[in-house]
Amino acid sequence: MKILVPVKRVVDYNVKIRVKSDGSGVDLANVKMAMNPFDEIAVEEALKIKERGDAEEVIAISIGPAKAQDTLRTALAMGADRAILIKTEETTEPLAVAKLLKKAVEDESPDLVIMGKQAIDDDCNQTGQMLASLLGWAQGTFASKVEFGDGKVNVTREIDGGLETVALKMPAVITTDLRLNEPRYASLPNIMKAKKKPIDEKTPEDLGVDVTPHIKTLSVEEPPKREAGEIVESVAELVDKLKNEAGVL
Ligand code: AMP
Repeated sequence: MKILVPVKRVVDYNVKIRVKSDGSGVDLANVKMAMNPFDEIAVEEALKIKERGDAEEVIAISIGPAKAQDTLRTALAMGADRAILIKTEETTEPLAVAKLLKKAVEDESPDLVIMGKQAIDDDCNQTGQMLASLLGWAQGTFASKVEFGDGKVNVTREIDGGLETVALKMPAVITTDLRLNEPRYASLPNIMKAKKKPIDEKTPEDLGVDVTPHIKTLSVEEPPKREAGEIVESVAELVDKLKNEAGVL
């Protein structure tokens, strides 16, 4: 079995986002970037499947600027076998990413695509579903457990009411939720080894996909600052304030 893992380069989740002074977007100058956290979980799951002997090859793929190579090197250092970079300076929307991934799937014929449920920069939560739909493949989204049996893959999904387990015919697309696993750190020897692993480069034009954005960002604002709270001495004081100051009772 071959597994394709899309990984997106995003602003590191520890960074406090700054909005550009003209409100046109998020300031990315000198900001630490990293692999989207849900994609780290996807790489980890693919590696676990390989280590169990259920897969032979794990391929990481990223769509983005030349710097997205760093994200692919992280995936390779975690243990992926090789990587593909689809290089573009354009901001890529989920549909464009899904179309590019579809082309990569047609080239590579993986049995599974394991990807994040959502990128933490755009919070779209769309790409996996769009890819499965474009391919006509089964999809198991928000996975918190993945098990194989009888030529099928059982995916336990985190849904509002609890957990739901679906059996997918392969090939299939799986998107990861937070509790699926805890991603490993790349060790120094593996970081060194990853430098020698191959990264194949392509462009959207090579794949015949138009990535022109369809959405225009009108403005970006920071959320309003929270006002300081107040500690009250007693329940009576709280009720009094709710009645007479906040006007909610
Ligand atoms: P989204 O639909 O944008 O929230 O992204 C969901 C998932 O799609 C991410 O967790 C990634 O696995 C994948 N993805 C989105 N954009 C890219 C990209 N530019 N390169 C590689 N994978 C991506």
